[in-house]
Amino acid sequence: MSLTEFEIIARYFAHHDARADVLLGVGDDAAVLEAMPGRKLVVALDTIVEGVHFPAGTAAADVGHRALAVNLSDLAAMGAQPSWMLLSVSMPQADEQWVAGFAAGLLELARQHGVVLVGGDMVRGPLAITVQIGGWVEPDGWLTRAGARPGDQLWVSGIPGEAAAGLAVLQQSLAPGAAATHLAQRFLRPQPRIALGRRLRLLASAAMDVSDGLLTDIEKLCAASGCAAQLDIDALPASSAMSELFGASECVQLALAGGDDYELVFTVPPQHAAQLRASAELPLAQIGVISAGSGVQCIRQGRPFAVARRGYDHFA
Ligand code: ADP
Ligand code: MG
Repeated sequence: MSLTEFEIIARYFAHHDARADVLLGVGDDAAVLEAMPGRKLVVALDTIVEGVHFPAGTAAADVGHRALAVNLSDLAAMGAQPSWMLLSVSMPQADEQWVAGFAAGLLELARQHGVVLVGGDMVRGPLAITVQIGGWVEPDGWLTRAGARPGDQLWVSGIPGEAAAGLAVLQQSLAPGAAATHLAQRFLRPQPRIALGRRLRLLASAAMDVSDGLLTDIEKLCAASGCAAQLDIDALPASSAMSELFGASECVQLALAGGDDYELVFTVPPQHAAQLRASAELPLAQIGVISAGSGVQCIRQGRPFAVARRGYDHFA
């Protein structure tokens, strides 16, 4: 059934959880938010487009989850605490079943992170979703890509490559099973590492989230920091689901160039490493070291390792 724009907003986006700092939310010409005293405002925006960021036919709830997750991941990479979002939806038609699923996926993740939807826009067009996320960070420090220094350790959360493996599973319709299901979920339901980012805020020297591919994203971090990195291929976290379905060298390629992980890659001065290891709520792996110079060198069994694919670039 088709709904009007007003009905869609009223039914699916207007009424949900409240926050004390949202003085005026959905329904007026703009939202009014209480600025948090003594905190810095952190904002980011990301768009996902059908056929570019997710395959056509992806379940509506997964699209809703992803639209917010990719934005939360950016705030995680800053060490920030998310609090509100704006939502722009471009869709070819007002399909109520689709909108209901989309809103459910989006707002479920929002609730998990205490994020309130405070406004947005809706237009007819190709399926594309933009979320602008806002949050805050304490004034005594936030994470950037630029703080890595020679001697720092290079770390990553989770298992890079599983999401790209999941996309391959979906595209190739590989035989269903526990491994394929696990990997597909890693692609469809990225888990933004907000809690880790909050903990890294005063521990890490630099951080970013892994969206385009581990290797290309480490290159960006190194360029921003004016440093080089040695990436130890043997230290990449292993995935039993990946090695069940993909050959060993394909697993390495997926880990290095796959993208869509939404994990955090970060650098830690050696004196903070013990504190980092002490309280890990998800698997963290040291995958290399930072040195003087520029660029990222991959090392395998002590020797330079040549990489076939480096990562995703929309315009490459
Ligand atoms: P305007 O034309 O003044 O921009 P709209 O009719 O587009 O207003 O939107 C009316 C209200 O609904 C505004 O508060 C707007 O922020 C909100 N809104 C519109 N689309 C969405 C959406 N997709 N999600 C949440 N709020 C929305
Ligand atoms: Mg509008």
